[in-house]
Parts: sequence; structure tokens; C-alpha cells
Amino acid sequence: MKNKKGVNTICTHVGELEDKEFKGAVSPLYMATSYAFEDVETKRYPRYFNTPNQVALAKKMAALENGEASLIFGSGMAAVSTSLMAFLKAGDHVVFQDALYGGTSNLAKEEFGKFGIEYSFAQNASADALKAEIKENTKVLYIETPSNPLLNITDMTAVARLAREHNLVTMIDNTFASPVNQNPIDFGIDIVIHSATKYMGGHSDILAGTVISSQENIDRIFHMAKNFGGSLSDYTVWLLERSIKTMGIRVKAQNENAQKLAEFLNDQPQVSKVYYPGLTTHPDHDLAKQQMKGFGGMLSFELNEKINASEFMKSLNLIKPSMSLAGVESTILLPSKTSHGLLTEEEREKQGIKDNLLRFSVGIEEAEDLMEDLMQAIDKNK
Ligand SMILES: *Cc1c(COP(=O)(O)O)cnc(C)c1O
Repeated sequence: MKNKKGVNTICTHVGELEDKEFKGAVSPLYMATSYAFEDVETKRYPRYFNTPNQVALAKKMAALENGEASLIFGSGMAAVSTSLMAFLKAGDHVVFQDALYGGTSNLAKEEFGKFGIEYSFAQNASADALKAEIKENTKVLYIETPSNPLLNITDMTAVARLAREHNLVTMIDNTFASPVNQNPIDFGIDIVIHSATKYMGGHSDILAGTVISSQENIDRIFHMAKNFGGSLSDYTVWLLERSIKTMGIRVKAQNENAQKLAEFLNDQPQVSKVYYPGLTTHPDHDLAKQQMKGFGGMLSFELNEKINASEFMKSLNLIKPSMSLAGVESTILLPSKTSHGLLTEEEREKQGIKDNLLRFSVGIEEAEDLMEDLMQAIDKNK
């Protein structure tokens, strides 16, 4: 793509609506649910994903991910479920990589059976492991990289090549990386999904989702979406547009902080393991370097046996124990008790999620203050 603007310019400007009446600096908000017919073809209605604010934000999303078109949803899971259902019917099969966002694996395990959709989970996050699960009726390969919570990296080029050989559609949940750090369409992935609740919203106050792809794929997803009804209110669309203006600078600050904190934790004798793709000791560091522009704001670590992870979390002052992630504030959780609590102990073990593993969503606070908080909590519990 020539003429492509830099990420901060896209975040600030692409898609914005002009206030012709008052010349205000930001996109006007159109809350109408009823619009006069423009012609027989065009019926504007929020659930048709075509209000002025929805269309404006969709242009920004498409530009951020180098796609042709996009849809904005009421949640990340609305984007995930609608995209999958648009490409799968009874008798079809989808291959998921091993470690997935809990909501996505629940969707498959709890709902797909009712629709006669088959699925398999690969043994790990590699293209070879996905390949091993491909069957006659496989239609979709679905990946997440970096993965939650161990930050495994999947080779997107290899997955795209595999899909072409078998005539499959590829989908990625790109939430953890954000469009600032990773653009999967550039590596041949077909459909990019985000929980916009995370880095796009960035302030822990918006629930939203988005999907970006070719116009043809988005048309197909739209047909399912208007029937499922998962659109986002225009007011929240407008707030999300505002949030994304600072996404580039926020995420770059979070990348920098996470790198510093990963290195800091790696140096502590009380920390037995740190998972962060920006560390040279990460097994997929070279792959991450090839396909990511930054290593992201998420890291995980294990404390040594002497420290009780729950007590450690309670001792933190600045870093808040919390379920969600990617806000400007730093948050931490125990995957074994929360996001992955529904998995059996055996499944957790297979995925390498230990009971004392902590997932750390690094915010934009000063790195030194975050280090101090971690250090005092370690000292209190060692
Ligand atoms: C949060 C999240 C989702 C689901 O998004 P919601 O906005 O909560 O529906 C999907 N994938 C990943 C990786 C997430 O972190």
C-alpha cells in the first residue's frame, strides 16, 4: 500500500466526519435510529451497520489493519461469533489453535454442537499442529497470536500458506497485539478480529468489537451480522473513535513499559519464569521480531514456590487485580483462577498454565513506579 499514512495519523484522522454546520474539531455524533430513504437500496439503520458514525469508524478500522472494509460490533465476542458463523454451516469443521481466549473456546464447546459444526483444537500454536487437524470438511483455520496467557507466537505466513494449499479461510484474534503492533492481512491472513474493549478502547470503559477483511468477506459477515443483531450503539461508536485517536501513543508506551518490566522481573531471583516475546530468551523471539512491530503490553510470569501468588497480588498497591486488560492502568490476574478457571486441571497443565502464573497487563504509568510496586510485594512475601 503506497500513500498509506502512519499509524498515529490513521488513529487521529482517518474516517472522521466533517462538521459542516459548526466546523467543530471532532466527528459529530448522529444518534438517529430512523433516517429518510435515500433511495430504494440504502436504508440506514444501526443494526444494518450503516449509520454515519458506524461507517466512519469502520473506515478507520480498515485503514489500521490494511483491509478493505470493516464492521463494528457490540462486543469482541459478537465479532468472533458472527465471523465464525458466517463461514461455517452444519457439517463443516474448524481448526482452532490450542490456547484461545476463554470466551471463544466456550463458544465452540457450548454452542457449536447445536448447529452441527465440528471443531478441533490443535496440540499447540504452530502451523504444523494446525495442519495435523485438517479434515475433508475443514473450512476455517483460527489463530490468536500472541496467545493468552503464555504469549506464544504463531507463524502467520506459514498459516496463510497452509490455508491456501487447502483452500481454507484464515481468521485471527489480533486483540493482544493491537493494530499498532501487528497487521495480519500483510502476512496473508484473511480475517482480523479485535475485542475493541481492550487496546482500542484502552480506558476500561467501552465494550466493543470489530472485524476487518476484504469487501467480499465483510459483505458475507454483514449478512449474518444484521440477522444476529450485534451492532454497537452510535454513542459508544463515537466514544471509541475518540479513544482510538490515542491508541498509537498509548500502545507504544505500553510496549516500552512491558519490555522494561519483563527484563526487571527476569532479573529477580524470586521470579522463576517470564513470558514476553520481547525477551531474547522467549522461544519465538525471532518470529515475533519478523511479524510484530512492537512486542505488546502483555506479559506473564511465575513466582518461585516460596511465594503465594494470591498473597503477592493482594500486596500490590498500584497494580490492580482485575479481570480485563489493555487499559492505561496496570492490572494483574491469576489465569488459573479467572480466565482459565473453567478449564480442567488437566487442560490447564497441557497448556502450560501453572497455578502460580500471573498475567500482567502493563499500563502507561511510570515504569519505575511499577517496578517499585512489584519489588515491595515480592519483599513482603518472600
Ligand atoms: C476480551 C477478549 C475477547 C472478547 O471480547 P469482549 O469484548 O469481552 O467480548 C476476545 N479475544 C480476546 C483475546 C480478548 O482478550
